[in-house]
Amino acid sequence: MFYKGAQLKEVFEKAKRERFGIIASNVVFDFAIRPLLQGYEAYKSDGLLQLSSGAVKYAAGKSKDMEIGAQLISTIVKTLSQQFKNSGVGLHIDHATPNYFDFVVLCIEKNLVSSVMIDASKEDFDENIRISSEVVKVAHKHGVLVEGEIGYIKGAEDEIISDTELYTKPEEALEYVKKTGVDLFAASVGTNHGVTKGHKVHLKLDLIKEIDNLLISNKVETGIVLHGASGLTMNQQQEAIKNGVVKINKDTRYQMEIASAVQSYWEKEKDAIAKPEGISDDSYIPDKSRFDPRKWITKGEDAIQNAVEGLIQISGSAGKSILLR
Ligand SMILES: [Zn+2]
Repeated sequence: MFYKGAQLKEVFEKAKRERFGIIASNVVFDFAIRPLLQGYEAYKSDGLLQLSSGAVKYAAGKSKDMEIGAQLISTIVKTLSQQFKNSGVGLHIDHATPNYFDFVVLCIEKNLVSSVMIDASKEDFDENIRISSEVVKVAHKHGVLVEGEIGYIKGAEDEIISDTELYTKPEEALEYVKKTGVDLFAASVGTNHGVTKGHKVHLKLDLIKEIDNLLISNKVETGIVLHGASGLTMNQQQEAIKNGVVKINKDTRYQMEIASAVQSYWEKEKDAIAKPEGISDDSYIPDKSRFDPRKWITKGEDAIQNAVEGLIQISGSAGKSILLR
Protein backbone atom coordinates (compact mmCIF):
# COMPACT_ATOMS: atom_id res chain seq x y z
CA MET A 1 0.00 0.00 0.00
CA PHE A 2 0.97 3.64 -0.25
CA TYR A 3 2.06 5.32 2.97
CA LYS A 4 1.35 8.88 3.91
CA GLY A 5 3.74 10.68 6.21
CA ALA A 6 2.13 9.46 9.42
CA GLN A 7 2.52 5.81 8.46
CA LEU A 8 6.04 6.42 7.20
CA LYS A 9 6.87 7.95 10.56
CA GLU A 10 5.67 4.74 12.18
CA VAL A 11 7.90 2.75 9.80
CA PHE A 12 10.99 4.72 10.79
CA GLU A 13 10.14 4.60 14.49
CA LYS A 14 9.80 0.84 14.32
CA ALA A 15 13.08 0.60 12.39
CA LYS A 16 14.81 2.69 15.02
CA ARG A 17 13.35 0.70 17.89
CA GLU A 18 14.14 -2.68 16.41
CA ARG A 19 17.35 -1.59 14.67
CA PHE A 20 16.75 -2.39 11.04
CA GLY A 21 17.14 -0.20 7.99
CA ILE A 22 14.67 0.94 5.35
CA ILE A 23 16.02 0.79 1.81
CA ALA A 24 15.24 4.06 0.04
CA SER A 25 15.43 3.46 -3.69
CA ASN A 26 15.74 6.20 -6.29
CA VAL A 27 13.40 5.77 -9.25
CA VAL A 28 12.77 7.38 -12.60
CA PHE A 29 10.67 4.93 -14.63
CA ASP A 30 7.72 2.65 -14.07
CA PHE A 31 9.92 -0.30 -14.97
CA ALA A 32 12.06 0.38 -11.92
CA ILE A 33 9.10 1.08 -9.64
CA ARG A 34 7.38 -2.24 -10.45
CA PRO A 35 10.22 -4.59 -9.48
CA LEU A 36 11.05 -2.55 -6.37
CA LEU A 37 7.47 -2.78 -5.09
CA GLN A 38 7.44 -6.50 -5.89
CA GLY A 39 10.71 -6.96 -4.02
CA TYR A 40 9.48 -5.13 -0.91
CA GLU A 41 6.26 -7.20 -1.01
CA ALA A 42 8.06 -10.53 -1.52
CA TYR A 43 10.01 -9.89 1.67
CA LYS A 44 7.17 -8.20 3.60
CA SER A 45 9.35 -5.14 4.00
CA ASP A 46 8.33 -1.51 3.96
CA GLY A 47 10.27 0.75 1.66
CA LEU A 48 10.68 4.21 0.29
CA LEU A 49 10.95 5.34 -3.30
CA GLN A 50 12.67 8.61 -3.99
CA LEU A 51 12.78 11.16 -6.74
CA SER A 52 15.60 13.51 -7.58
CA SER A 53 14.82 16.78 -9.32
CA GLY A 54 16.48 15.35 -12.43
CA ALA A 55 14.23 12.28 -12.32
CA VAL A 56 11.12 14.44 -12.04
CA LYS A 57 12.18 16.53 -15.04
CA TYR A 58 12.95 13.41 -17.06
CA ALA A 59 9.60 11.84 -16.20
CA ALA A 60 7.76 14.82 -17.72
CA GLY A 61 9.48 14.45 -21.10
CA LYS A 62 11.01 17.24 -23.14
CA SER A 63 9.01 19.91 -21.30
CA LYS A 64 10.85 19.00 -18.06
CA ASP A 65 7.75 20.23 -16.28
CA MET A 66 8.43 19.17 -12.71
CA GLU A 67 4.82 19.25 -11.59
CA ILE A 68 3.81 16.90 -14.41
CA GLY A 69 6.76 14.59 -13.69
CA ALA A 70 6.03 14.40 -9.98
CA GLN A 71 2.33 13.81 -10.62
CA LEU A 72 3.10 11.01 -13.04
CA ILE A 73 5.47 9.14 -10.74
CA SER A 74 3.25 9.69 -7.70
CA THR A 75 0.27 8.28 -9.60
CA ILE A 76 2.25 5.25 -10.75
CA VAL A 77 3.51 4.52 -7.24
CA LYS A 78 0.11 5.01 -5.62
CA THR A 79 -1.64 2.87 -8.25
CA LEU A 80 0.82 -0.02 -8.35
CA SER A 81 1.22 -0.20 -4.58
CA GLN A 82 -2.53 -0.79 -4.08
CA GLN A 83 -2.09 -4.45 -5.01
CA PHE A 84 0.37 -5.15 -2.19
CA LYS A 85 -1.00 -5.91 1.26
CA ASN A 86 2.10 -7.09 3.14
CA SER A 87 4.26 -4.06 2.54
CA GLY A 88 3.97 -0.36 2.06
CA VAL A 89 6.02 2.36 0.44
CA GLY A 90 6.23 6.09 0.75
CA LEU A 91 7.38 8.53 -1.90
CA HIS A 92 10.16 10.97 -1.09
CA ILE A 93 11.80 13.95 -2.78
CA ASP A 94 15.57 13.49 -2.60
CA HIS A 95 18.06 16.39 -2.22
CA ALA A 96 15.79 19.33 -2.95
CA THR A 97 18.06 22.37 -2.85
CA PRO A 98 16.59 25.77 -1.87
CA ASN A 99 15.99 26.73 -5.53
CA TYR A 100 13.39 23.93 -5.59
CA PHE A 101 11.57 25.30 -2.55
CA ASP A 102 8.38 26.07 -4.50
CA PHE A 103 8.42 22.64 -6.12
CA VAL A 104 8.73 20.96 -2.73
CA VAL A 105 5.83 23.00 -1.36
CA LEU A 106 3.75 22.07 -4.39
CA CYS A 107 4.45 18.34 -3.90
CA ILE A 108 3.47 18.66 -0.24
CA GLU A 109 0.31 20.64 -0.86
CA LYS A 110 -0.85 18.43 -3.73
CA ASN A 111 -0.35 15.35 -1.57
CA LEU A 112 2.07 13.77 -4.06
CA VAL A 113 4.69 12.62 -1.54
CA SER A 114 5.07 11.24 1.98
CA SER A 115 8.38 12.92 2.77
CA VAL A 116 10.83 15.43 1.36
CA MET A 117 14.49 16.19 1.80
CA ILE A 118 15.45 19.83 2.01
CA ASP A 119 19.14 20.08 1.27
CA ALA A 120 20.26 23.59 2.16
CA SER A 121 23.65 22.28 3.26
CA LYS A 122 25.46 24.60 0.88
CA GLU A 123 24.03 27.63 2.69
CA ASP A 124 25.61 28.80 5.90
CA PHE A 125 24.40 27.13 9.06
CA ASP A 126 21.83 29.75 10.15
CA GLU A 127 20.37 30.09 6.67
CA ASN A 128 20.14 26.31 6.41
CA ILE A 129 18.22 26.25 9.69
CA ARG A 130 15.90 29.02 8.48
CA ILE A 131 15.10 27.31 5.14
CA SER A 132 14.78 23.85 6.67
CA SER A 133 12.43 25.16 9.37
CA GLU A 134 10.29 26.78 6.71
CA VAL A 135 9.93 23.46 4.88
CA VAL A 136 9.19 21.64 8.14
CA LYS A 137 6.43 24.14 8.91
CA VAL A 138 4.61 23.54 5.59
CA ALA A 139 5.31 19.80 5.53
CA HIS A 140 4.12 19.04 9.05
CA LYS A 141 0.93 20.99 8.45
CA HIS A 142 0.21 18.43 5.71
CA GLY A 143 1.50 15.40 7.59
CA VAL A 144 4.62 15.09 5.41
CA LEU A 145 8.01 14.15 6.90
CA VAL A 146 11.19 16.14 6.36
CA GLU A 147 14.79 15.04 6.02
CA GLY A 148 17.53 17.63 6.47
CA GLU A 149 21.27 17.85 6.18
CA ILE A 150 23.98 20.22 7.39
CA GLY A 151 27.10 21.38 5.63
CA TYR A 152 30.54 20.37 6.69
CA ILE A 153 32.96 22.66 4.97
CA LYS A 154 33.39 25.83 6.93
CA GLY A 155 34.14 28.88 4.88
CA ALA A 156 35.07 28.86 1.22
CA GLU A 157 38.41 30.45 2.05
CA ASP A 158 39.74 27.20 3.44
CA GLU A 159 42.10 25.93 0.83
CA ILE A 160 42.92 22.73 2.53
CA ILE A 161 40.01 21.07 4.19
CA SER A 162 40.96 18.87 7.07
CA ASP A 163 39.31 15.49 7.38
CA THR A 164 37.50 16.43 10.55
CA GLU A 165 35.66 19.21 8.77
CA LEU A 166 34.08 16.70 6.39
CA TYR A 167 32.26 14.89 9.17
CA THR A 168 29.07 15.95 10.89
CA LYS A 169 29.79 17.55 14.25
CA PRO A 170 27.42 16.05 16.83
CA GLU A 171 26.76 19.43 18.56
CA GLU A 172 25.82 20.99 15.21
CA ALA A 173 23.56 18.06 14.41
CA LEU A 174 21.84 18.58 17.76
CA GLU A 175 21.37 22.31 17.22
CA TYR A 176 20.07 21.75 13.68
CA VAL A 177 17.60 19.04 14.66
CA LYS A 178 16.39 20.99 17.70
CA LYS A 179 15.84 24.23 15.83
CA THR A 180 14.31 22.80 12.64
CA GLY A 181 12.27 19.85 13.93
CA VAL A 182 13.26 17.60 11.02
CA ASP A 183 12.15 13.96 11.21
CA LEU A 184 15.21 12.51 9.51
CA PHE A 185 18.78 13.70 9.55
CA ALA A 186 21.43 12.92 6.91
CA ALA A 187 24.75 12.46 8.65
CA SER A 188 28.12 12.71 6.97
CA VAL A 189 30.25 9.93 8.37
CA GLY A 190 32.51 9.39 5.41
CA THR A 191 30.10 8.10 2.78
CA ASN A 192 28.45 11.25 1.53
CA HIS A 193 28.89 11.51 -2.22
CA GLY A 194 29.16 15.26 -2.59
CA VAL A 195 31.35 15.78 0.40
CA THR A 196 33.93 13.11 -0.22
CA LYS A 197 34.56 14.32 -3.74
CA GLY A 198 38.29 14.55 -4.24
CA HIS A 199 38.99 13.56 -0.67
CA LYS A 200 39.90 10.23 0.76
CA VAL A 201 37.69 10.10 3.78
CA HIS A 202 37.36 6.97 5.83
CA LEU A 203 34.17 5.72 7.30
CA LYS A 204 33.44 6.67 10.92
CA LEU A 205 30.55 4.50 11.95
CA ASP A 206 31.06 5.35 15.64
CA LEU A 207 30.16 8.93 14.82
CA ILE A 208 26.61 7.80 13.99
CA LYS A 209 26.26 6.40 17.49
CA GLU A 210 27.67 9.56 19.01
CA ILE A 211 25.18 11.74 17.11
CA ASP A 212 22.32 9.38 17.90
CA ASN A 213 23.14 9.28 21.61
CA LEU A 214 23.36 13.06 21.78
CA LEU A 215 19.99 13.48 20.04
CA ILE A 216 18.38 10.88 22.31
CA SER A 217 19.77 12.40 25.51
CA ASN A 218 18.38 15.77 24.42
CA LYS A 219 14.98 14.23 23.67
CA VAL A 220 15.10 14.98 19.94
CA GLU A 221 15.66 11.47 18.62
CA THR A 222 15.39 11.32 14.84
CA GLY A 223 16.04 8.73 12.18
CA ILE A 224 19.56 8.96 10.78
CA VAL A 225 20.07 8.67 7.04
CA LEU A 226 23.06 7.30 5.18
CA HIS A 227 23.69 8.78 1.75
CA GLY A 228 26.15 7.50 -0.81
CA ALA A 229 26.02 4.03 0.69
CA SER A 230 26.40 2.07 -2.54
CA GLY A 231 30.06 1.30 -1.88
CA LEU A 232 29.59 -0.06 1.64
CA THR A 233 30.06 -3.69 2.57
CA MET A 234 27.29 -5.72 4.18
CA ASN A 235 28.99 -5.49 7.57
CA GLN A 236 29.43 -1.74 7.33
CA GLN A 237 25.76 -1.26 6.53
CA GLN A 238 24.68 -3.48 9.38
CA GLU A 239 27.02 -1.69 11.77
CA ALA A 240 25.58 1.66 10.66
CA ILE A 241 22.04 0.39 11.32
CA LYS A 242 23.03 -0.89 14.74
CA ASN A 243 24.33 2.60 15.52
CA GLY A 244 21.10 4.41 14.58
CA VAL A 245 20.73 4.57 10.80
CA VAL A 246 17.16 3.91 9.64
CA LYS A 247 17.26 4.97 5.99
CA ILE A 248 19.81 3.79 3.48
CA ASN A 249 19.75 5.47 0.10
CA LYS A 250 20.37 3.43 -3.03
CA ASP A 251 20.50 4.76 -6.54
CA THR A 252 23.63 3.85 -8.50
CA ARG A 253 23.29 0.18 -7.62
CA TYR A 254 19.99 -0.15 -9.54
CA GLN A 255 21.31 1.77 -12.51
CA MET A 256 24.15 -0.70 -12.79
CA GLU A 257 21.88 -3.70 -12.38
CA ILE A 258 19.50 -2.66 -15.11
CA ALA A 259 22.27 -1.67 -17.51
CA SER A 260 24.19 -4.89 -17.11
CA ALA A 261 21.10 -7.11 -17.42
CA VAL A 262 20.04 -5.39 -20.64
CA GLN A 263 23.59 -5.41 -21.94
CA SER A 264 23.97 -9.16 -21.45
CA TYR A 265 20.60 -9.78 -23.09
CA TRP A 266 21.62 -7.87 -26.21
CA GLU A 267 25.04 -9.43 -26.32
CA LYS A 268 23.29 -12.78 -26.78
CA GLU A 269 20.33 -11.64 -28.89
CA LYS A 270 21.98 -9.08 -31.10
CA ASP A 271 20.95 -10.84 -34.32
CA ALA A 272 17.31 -10.15 -33.47
CA ILE A 273 17.80 -6.55 -34.64
CA ALA A 274 21.14 -6.53 -36.45
CA LYS A 275 21.85 -8.63 -39.53
CA PRO A 276 24.79 -10.95 -38.86
CA GLU A 277 27.70 -10.82 -41.27
CA GLY A 278 27.49 -13.13 -44.24
CA ILE A 279 23.69 -13.15 -44.41
CA SER A 280 22.05 -11.46 -47.35
CA ASP A 281 19.59 -8.59 -46.87
CA ASP A 282 16.87 -10.70 -48.46
CA SER A 283 17.16 -13.59 -46.10
CA TYR A 284 17.46 -11.55 -42.85
CA ILE A 285 14.28 -10.93 -40.89
CA PRO A 286 14.47 -9.05 -37.56
CA ASP A 287 12.92 -11.13 -34.77
CA LYS A 288 10.03 -9.36 -33.08
CA SER A 289 9.72 -12.11 -30.48
CA ARG A 290 13.13 -11.03 -29.15
CA PHE A 291 13.19 -7.25 -29.68
CA ASP A 292 9.77 -6.61 -28.15
CA PRO A 293 10.73 -4.27 -25.25
CA ARG A 294 8.92 -6.52 -22.79
CA LYS A 295 11.51 -9.22 -23.57
CA TRP A 296 14.55 -7.15 -22.62
CA ILE A 297 13.25 -4.50 -20.23
CA THR A 298 11.95 -7.29 -18.00
CA LYS A 299 15.54 -8.59 -17.70
CA GLY A 300 16.37 -5.26 -16.14
CA GLU A 301 13.28 -5.41 -13.94
CA ASP A 302 14.23 -8.86 -12.64
CA ALA A 303 17.73 -7.62 -11.87
CA ILE A 304 16.35 -4.66 -9.89
CA GLN A 305 14.02 -6.92 -7.93
CA ASN A 306 16.89 -9.26 -7.08
CA ALA A 307 19.01 -6.32 -5.99
CA VAL A 308 16.41 -4.82 -3.67
CA GLU A 309 15.63 -8.23 -2.19
CA GLY A 310 19.31 -8.65 -1.37
CA LEU A 311 19.44 -5.19 0.20
CA ILE A 312 16.33 -5.89 2.28
CA GLN A 313 17.96 -9.01 3.68
CA ILE A 314 21.10 -7.08 4.58
CA SER A 315 19.20 -4.22 6.22
CA GLY A 316 17.03 -6.56 8.28
CA SER A 317 13.69 -5.11 7.16
CA ALA A 318 12.33 -8.43 5.85
CA GLY A 319 9.12 -9.43 7.65
CA LYS A 320 9.04 -6.10 9.49
CA SER A 321 6.30 -4.22 7.65
CA ILE A 322 4.08 -2.23 10.01
CA LEU A 323 1.12 -3.81 8.19
CA LEU A 324 1.93 -7.20 9.72
CA ARG A 325 0.60 -7.03 13.22
ZN1 LIG B 1 22.28 11.81 -1.22
